[in-house]
Amino acid sequence: MKKIGFIGLGIMGKPMSKNLLKAGYQLVVYDLNESAVAEIVRTGAEAGTSAKDVASKTEVIITMLPNSPHVKEVVLGKDGVIDGAQEGSIVIDMSSIAPLVSREVGKKLATKNIRFMDAPVSGGEPKAIEGTLSIMVGGKEVDFGECLSLLQCMGTSVVLCGDVGAGNVTKLANQIIVAVNIAAMSEALVLATKAGVDPDSVYKAIRGGLAGSTVLDAKAPLVMARKFDPGFRINLHIKDLNNILETGHEVGVPLPLSASVMEMMQALKVDGHGGKDHGSLVLFYEKLANILVEKQNK
Ligand code: NAD
Repeated sequence: MKKIGFIGLGIMGKPMSKNLLKAGYQLVVYDLNESAVAEIVRTGAEAGTSAKDVASKTEVIITMLPNSPHVKEVVLGKDGVIDGAQEGSIVIDMSSIAPLVSREVGKKLATKNIRFMDAPVSGGEPKAIEGTLSIMVGGKEVDFGECLSLLQCMGTSVVLCGDVGAGNVTKLANQIIVAVNIAAMSEALVLATKAGVDPDSVYKAIRGGLAGSTVLDAKAPLVMARKFDPGFRINLHIKDLNNILETGHEVGVPLPLSASVMEMMQALKVDGHGGKDHGSLVLFYEKLANILVEKQNK
C-alpha cells in the first residue's frame, strides 16, 4: 500500500484522513493548526514538519485547503510539496479552487515529473465522516485508475470528469446548484411561514415531489431547528461564488442567479454571519420579511 501525505486537516480533511487510516494506509500529515495534527497523530498518523517534509516521505500527497492561494503556497511555495516530492509521485488537490489555478499548479509540477489531479468533493462534513463523498476528478485516465481505490476510501461516487481542471469546473457547477437551491428554499419557507403555514408541514408535503432535493432534506430541518453551525461556511461559499463568477466571465458566460446569491451572502457576511453554515442564507430573507422560519408545534 502506498504511503500517503495529507495536508490540511480542517472540517473536511480530518475525517477524510481518518478514513484513509481506517482503510489501512500509512499517513504523514501536516497543518498550520497543531492541535488538528495532534488529533490525527493520536489516530495513528505520523506528523510532518512542513509540506516539503510530507512530500519527501510519501508517494501520493493529498491537499485539502481553503482556496487557490493556499494551494499555490503549500504546493509551489517555500518549503512546498514541489521541493520535497519525488519524481513520479502524485499530488491530488481535493480543495475547491479556481480551475485555472489547478491547471497552473499541474503544469508547474509536470516540469519536475510530478503528476497532478484536482479532485474536489461534495457532501460536506457528514459525508466526509461516513466516507460517502462525491469526488469529481480532473486528470489523466492512468493516474485516475491508479488512485481510484484510494479515493474510494473517502467517497462512494468518484468520477473522472476530464483533464486537469475539469474536477474544479464540475465543482463550480455543483456550487451554483447548491447556492441557488438554498436561496430558493429560503425564499419559499419564509413565504410559507409569513402566509401562516407551518414550514415543517410545507417541507413534509413537498419533499417527495419535484421540489424535493438533497439540499432541501439537508438544510430545511436545520433551518427549522435554528441550527446554523458549520458545516459549510458562508465565507467558503462566497469564495466558491467568486471562483464561479470569475470563471464565468473569463469563458463568456453571464451568471445572473449566482450573482444574486453572492450579494445575499455578502450581506450576511457584513451582518457577522460569515462563519455560519450556508443554510443561514435564510437569515437574509427573514430580515427582509421580519419573520423567523420555525416549526409551529416544536
Ligand atoms: P477548513 O478551513 O476547516 O480547513 C482548512 C485547513 O487548512 C485548516 O485546518 C487550516 O489550518 C489548513 N491550512 C490553511 N493554510 C495552510 C497552510 N499554508 N499549510 C498547512 N495547512 C493550512 O476548510 P474545510 O471546510 O475543511 O474545506 C476545505 C476545502 O474543502 C475548501 O476548499 C472547501 O471549499 C472544500 N469543501 C468544504 C466542505 C464543507 O462542508 N466544509 C464541503 C465540500 C468542499
